Amino acid sequence: MTKTVHHWIGGKTVEGESGDWGPVTDPATGAVTTRVALASVEEVDRAVAAARIAFQTWGTSSLAQRTSILFRFRALLDANRDAIAELITAEHGKVHSDALGEVARGLEIVDLACGITTQLKGELSTQVSNRVDVAAIRQPVGVVVGITPFNFPAMVPMWMFPLAIACGNTFVLKPSEKDPSASLKIAELLAEAGLPDGVFNVVQGDKVAVDRLLEHPDVAAVSFVGSTPIARHIHTTASANGKRVQALGGAKNHMLVLPDADLDAAADAAVSAAYGSAGERCMAISAVVAVGAVGDELVDKIRERAEKIKIGPGDDPASEMGPLITRAHRDKVASYVHGAAEQGADVVLDGTGYTVDGYEDGHWIGLSLLDKVSTDSDAYRDEIFGPVLCVLRADTYEEGLALINASPFGNGTAIFTRDGGAARRFQLEVQAGMVGVNVPIPVPVGYHSFGGWKDSLFGDLHVYGNDGVQFYTRGKVVTTRWPDPSEPHGGVDLGFPRNH
Ligand code: NAD
Repeated sequence: MTKTVHHWIGGKTVEGESGDWGPVTDPATGAVTTRVALASVEEVDRAVAAARIAFQTWGTSSLAQRTSILFRFRALLDANRDAIAELITAEHGKVHSDALGEVARGLEIVDLACGITTQLKGELSTQVSNRVDVAAIRQPVGVVVGITPFNFPAMVPMWMFPLAIACGNTFVLKPSEKDPSASLKIAELLAEAGLPDGVFNVVQGDKVAVDRLLEHPDVAAVSFVGSTPIARHIHTTASANGKRVQALGGAKNHMLVLPDADLDAAADAAVSAAYGSAGERCMAISAVVAVGAVGDELVDKIRERAEKIKIGPGDDPASEMGPLITRAHRDKVASYVHGAAEQGADVVLDGTGYTVDGYEDGHWIGLSLLDKVSTDSDAYRDEIFGPVLCVLRADTYEEGLALINASPFGNGTAIFTRDGGAARRFQLEVQAGMVGVNVPIPVPVGYHSFGGWKDSLFGDLHVYGNDGVQFYTRGKVVTTRWPDPSEPHGGVDLGFPRNH
């Protein structure tokens, strides 16, 4: 073990004092490379206090100051894409090109935050009544918290803090303890860009840190991204403590393939979206629903492509797919494949025996493809979060749609077809927050918002885009009358004010 990851509080590194440490593993080798501080309640309180003090000035800072810092941060982020991607690969395991993709999608939200001036313009209605004007403005909410998952250690924090600080809030990030280093690199770049101390803070930690943040009286809002059981806990607890909360959960994303679809394009898309990042994406396609007679041909095409995917360490440019995050997770993913045949599936590809020469202790698993999967099997019902694709069969569009809509999850979904009418019906009838038409991973661009339905999101507002600005600001409406000395002011009137 060569490295220690600490907190970032008040514009500088603060060494962990709790005495509790978590291990960070290189998934390609299985070796523990780093220890990460796990914050105590007192350490969380220090971070929130730093953010509260910083809010006193940042909350009223000018838009010009905020955006000039964000523009400088954008340039630094752009120049450090590779460095951040390397940190991600070393702790998460995903291949370098995929890590670069995550940085690029995070940068989109920084772009949006650089243009916050137009989003915060407010509204003015003049002469709503005699000499009365009404202005609607939005103001920051205060200290806001981001709690983020392991699978996007740079992008998901960037879904949150750029808009939050652009809107005038101060931020406390609690990143995943499994891959914490990217968060500190981001903190350093923000400081280099000139962000005042205390506007952005990082507390490393686990449940102890999260639960303190959820109950801390000085925290105004909580953004969470992670698994469904924890998202539900965050939503319930933070709401009970009077906080604004958005909690994004897990997923089981379906891809409906109609008989008229371009099957080669559909197979390419299914393989890319199911096995990219080893299936550790909340927008991964984990279930293909083949409609009509296309099932056998589609499964053949997926299998042919999946067999060619090169698995290896994320820092090897030849690798297309890396290892899983932990050994325990690898074993859990494998257990779904081992149990699939007994629960009625055809196991077309079984990747559970896969290993990489020279990296025998890495968290490797190959690609698995399960056909004719039943909706009551574990492999279908649970979010596996690994490179396991289930194929289900449906006789008609209606049957396929009903199957998708019966899922408790509703994050993303996709339809593959050449029929515009069917695609239009699907957009309107499917119960999910993000829909792709011949697009398998429909992650919205930064200026739209990201979020699912049902058990994939608890709370009202999605992240980033207009919803992000709404979430990180609160409305205020100002009604103004300037008297005209030449007119009488009307005197005392106990009646409820009416506009005339
Ligand atoms: P996770 O729920 O285990 O952890 C997420 C965060 O919560 C981490 O910071 C972790 O430290 C904290 N946490 C974990 N257990 C906790 C507990 N008992 N109490 C309080 N805090 C706790 O998720 P993960 O394994 O890091 O990430 C994978 C999950 O995230 C998948 O389910 C995936 O679908 C989901 N995800 C969802 C989206 C989305 O946009 N909907 C995006 C990315 C990931």
